Amino acid sequence: MQRPTRSIVIVFLLLAVLALPACTRQILGLMERRVTATLQADPVGDLPDGLHVMVCGAGGPLPSETRSSACLMVVAGRTVMIFDVGAGSSRNLTLHGFAPALVERVFLTHFHSDHLDGLGELATLRWAAGDWSAPLDVHGPTGVGEIVDGFNTVYRQDQVYRTAHHGERVAPTATKGLRARPFSPPREGETPVVFKQDDVRVTAFLVQHAPAEPAVGYRVEYGGRSIAISGDTAKSTNLEAAAQGVDVLFHEALSKRLVGVMNTAATNADDEIMAKVTADILDYHASPVEAAESAAAAGAGALVFYHVVPPLPLAPLERIYLDGTGDAFDGPIELSVDGTFVSLPSGSDEIDIESP
Ligand SMILES: [Zn+2]
Ligand SMILES: [Zn+2]
Repeated sequence: MQRPTRSIVIVFLLLAVLALPACTRQILGLMERRVTATLQADPVGDLPDGLHVMVCGAGGPLPSETRSSACLMVVAGRTVMIFDVGAGSSRNLTLHGFAPALVERVFLTHFHSDHLDGLGELATLRWAAGDWSAPLDVHGPTGVGEIVDGFNTVYRQDQVYRTAHHGERVAPTATKGLRARPFSPPREGETPVVFKQDDVRVTAFLVQHAPAEPAVGYRVEYGGRSIAISGDTAKSTNLEAAAQGVDVLFHEALSKRLVGVMNTAATNADDEIMAKVTADILDYHASPVEAAESAAAAGAGALVFYHVVPPLPLAPLERIYLDGTGDAFDGPIELSVDGTFVSLPSGSDEIDIESP
């Protein structure tokens, strides 16, 4: 049988398109233009030179419509780094215009699941859609190697399928998976440089999150601007020292008052497990006021709350969460949601914070 010529195929497609209702053709055209624009976009190149942070996960482990598990995307110059990668991280990156393929490296603060359970998804999307010459580097205190080995084992079959299906150009064997970049956990007062590249500098510092040990926070510097990231911690004087003079402090916080209400409700409902958990978690997180006190002690230019616990589904709960923070810290305070964007342009002292 003679194969259809190219022109016959084109005529057939044209007839098929003409047969579609006009509004369907418009929607498909719109979709095509949107996909093309997304693929041609350069969201990092479009940013002014400086240090930028997008909150790709503003919440803790409990589900929330506006705050996924912990994730901060830091763009320092042209280097894109992710600090903690909770579930929902890749989805939030993509929804806010930053494809996982852009991510150069990841830093973990500690090994609680809500800080790393999006790691496999991020690595896979970055691998299959990116153009990197090495696996995704995952920096973290000692123990990060075990996390990386575990994810690499879990995703091994998936990687084989994808290379077999799409070939080495799309899914190269040499760059699949994760690569551990462990460092010795710093002691009190120590701030080792754990990553340095051109003008980008990342240091780590010890925080208090026992029994989750090691647990660290990070300070990132670029172009004369700086931020500090708390990870999970009770109020920490070590953090305050390491974060001295930063432009923005990103600090976790748990409202003891609101978690106390959950504890009372759990006790009323004879839910022993929820009552125990809501009692246990009080001592290894900072309250919003304690985080604000740390921002003041560090002399931070602004404070952004992330890892917001518990979920705050109603606006009045946000007011209760923030109650007293303005008395403890007189700079700008932002209660972040997924997509909150902070810009610190180089050569200025401007701090732009926008939430969706
Ligand atoms: Zn956490
Ligand atoms: Zn934790």
